[in-house]
Amino acid sequence: MSAQETLSAVFARLIANFGPISVMQYMGEANARYYAARDPLGATGDFVTAPEISQMFGELIGLWLADIWSRAGRPEPVHYVELGPGRGTLARDALRAAGKAGLVPQVHFVEGSPALRALQSQAVPTAQWHADLSSLPENAPILLVANEFLDALPVRQLVRAEAGWRERMVGCEDGRFRPMIGDRPMDAALPETLRDAAPGTIIETCPGAATVVGEVSQRLAAQGGAALFIDYGHAEFRTGSTLQAVRAHRKVDPFADPGEADLTALVDFATLAEVAKSHGARRLGIAEQGVWLRALGIDARAEALARAVPARAEAVAVARDRLVDPEQMGALFKVMGLTASGWPEGAGF
Ligand code: SAH
Repeated sequence: MSAQETLSAVFARLIANFGPISVMQYMGEANARYYAARDPLGATGDFVTAPEISQMFGELIGLWLADIWSRAGRPEPVHYVELGPGRGTLARDALRAAGKAGLVPQVHFVEGSPALRALQSQAVPTAQWHADLSSLPENAPILLVANEFLDALPVRQLVRAEAGWRERMVGCEDGRFRPMIGDRPMDAALPETLRDAAPGTIIETCPGAATVVGEVSQRLAAQGGAALFIDYGHAEFRTGSTLQAVRAHRKVDPFADPGEADLTALVDFATLAEVAKSHGARRLGIAEQGVWLRALGIDARAEALARAVPARAEAVAVARDRLVDPEQMGALFKVMGLTASGWPEGAGF
């Protein structure tokens, strides 16, 4: 395969030779290609995330971590771990705020994209990089943050056909990719309650997210610490496809131009909370982002920023609303907090 060959061409050849590929393979390879070579964030990119909207987001997370670490007896050494840090903005803001509260951790980034690693090293030059969680240190508690990381991990979709459950696949017709129903029976993979769902029903699972949350939970149990997973998703299980593609701030067809748009799926926090528990972590709860940020004092922080730079008061108010307003990010985005057993309660849950 030449480096210039589009992923569309690769998929089309694969499907022509071997038949349809799973939605999970399609999404996984599309996102690997998408993130490897670009910075997708910001006004000139494809989408904007909470830390890019306002420094208040990262600062409040940094203060949350410093608070729980402080009440845990200020263990040293301690590791700040971030999964998929994007431009490094959240880490930079969080570490600045945490440092003022006396928390100066070692910094570890789990990042797959060479392009984003380069940007992250400008934001946080002292960070160490990891391709996955397995090489993270084991000697001390971890304070882990993952914002809009789990939603990028590939989902497996199962669809109820007339004859039973099948995997949802991607085929190619006349040069266009289309979702279709696979041949192999998948009924054994379904819980009893869903076996007889109406034809057309789709369910999603995210094995990668479950693996990550399971591994983090095991580390919390073994090493101590706390974790915050922030993403858009639901606090209770739902059916339906949530696969979506965003390009230049607009929703586009996820089956057009794989590798050229950001593919995401909503995060199933209910399932992940169960995974966390079964791997030994304590669950603090699943809060709506808006409620959580207000409990941490975003309104007071916004007022202080507006007072300090009156010319920016309007922009700060707009940013605060974007993060908190239930009609904007406030309700769809959730914060799942986990700790080691024996660590203190976290603020805002
Ligand atoms: N947390 C950042 C960026 C979110 S975009 C923010 O809030 O702005 C998703 C991030 O996860 C990117 O940094 C992307 O490169 C990374 N990522 C996606 N899939 C990954 C994978 N399988 N392994 C490692 N990093 C991944």
